[in-house]
Amino acid sequence: MSQFLAERMKAIAPSATLAISAYAAELKAKGKEIISLSVGEPDFETPPHVKEAAIAAIQNGFTHYTAVDGTPALKRAIVEKFKRENHLTYEPSQVLVSCGVKHSLFNAFAALLNEGDEVIIPAPYWVSYPEMVAFFGGLPVALPTTLESRFKITPDQLGKAISKKTKGLILNSPSNPTGMAYTARELSALGRVLQAHPNVVILSDDIYEHILWAGEPFVNILNVCPRLSERTLVMNGVSKAYAMTGWRIGYAAGPKEIIQAMHTVQSQSTSNPTSISQVAAQKALEGGIECVKPMVKAFKERHDFIVPALNCLPGFRCSPADGTFYAFPSVEDFLSQHKEIKDDIELAKQLLEHAGVAVVPGAAFGGPGHLRISFATGMETLKKAIEKLRMFLKT
Ligand code: PMP
Ligand code: GLU
Repeated sequence: MSQFLAERMKAIAPSATLAISAYAAELKAKGKEIISLSVGEPDFETPPHVKEAAIAAIQNGFTHYTAVDGTPALKRAIVEKFKRENHLTYEPSQVLVSCGVKHSLFNAFAALLNEGDEVIIPAPYWVSYPEMVAFFGGLPVALPTTLESRFKITPDQLGKAISKKTKGLILNSPSNPTGMAYTARELSALGRVLQAHPNVVILSDDIYEHILWAGEPFVNILNVCPRLSERTLVMNGVSKAYAMTGWRIGYAAGPKEIIQAMHTVQSQSTSNPTSISQVAAQKALEGGIECVKPMVKAFKERHDFIVPALNCLPGFRCSPADGTFYAFPSVEDFLSQHKEIKDDIELAKQLLEHAGVAVVPGAAFGGPGHLRISFATGMETLKKAIEKLRMFLKT
């Protein structure tokens, strides 16, 4: 059958996070007891006032096409959100609503990349970035970081990685999978490097903005380097903050010309995001972040449980995260003591099949020798999972 497939399909692999969670669900359906700490999605319910707004939208017949770029009311709510929470000013024409940040990113790369354009991606990175870049003929350039540098790139490293072909840089803070967040000072130093390279577009994926507890409040690179606004796309959505992964609403804001090009791509692919979800997202954003706080509190409690618990497992080393709902322990010591297990991919497979715990190998995120553990699940389940891991690793 492969003769029918486009060449570009060779450049893209299925999402590892989604594949592992699907495999875990399949084993569960076969009657195996599986705890899935694989996919990153809040285990909380979408807040009731958001659900009610969506139900009312259906009952009021708001079930037809909307403007491709989102309803004017939702776009206003997004503009207000940026002003209120991020001190960033946008016109509605600088905002495009899409079916999740994943879709915003896809539109952005479609609109920006020529064959051979390089996109710098600090590693470990979210699984979809390099795949999307490659899908559009771009060249993902991973910048490696280590646990010791808290998984953050340095200005020097960035400066050296920028070439004539560099078209973009992805920033994701707090980060999936490491949970680390850049400080204002660190972003400002990266911003100074970027100012010397006017052809580089910055794609700032702020989806974990509110799931943050360490030190400084959230900061976007534009807060410290406003001059970069002519070539920065800020992306955010309601999936993580408001426990709305299934509603599929994300948005991008940035220079009019880029947003317009992304709008054109979207107009020829999905058209508008679901009308009902747009009403729900508007309600969520207009309500501010009060309803997000109890969820963040729970994530922090789980983080405070799981990080020390992971550090007690043999050969595991895990740093406290600044936010998100991921732990990213190094298992290098474990692997070097157990040569029969080849790598993190093999270890994750064994953990799933023999310990009944699904986690994602770090290799999928450009961080081999690590595991990504999502703690977006109840405390009792987490305790059980740690016990299962402990028992398996002991033997
Ligand atoms: N960016 C990052 C870093 C993520 O972890 C996710 C989670 N899926 C997304 C983007 C996409 O989120 P969504 O499409 O649900 O808005
Ligand atoms: N971002 C989440 C994760 O990393 C959701 C799954 C996905 O879209 O990759 O697990």
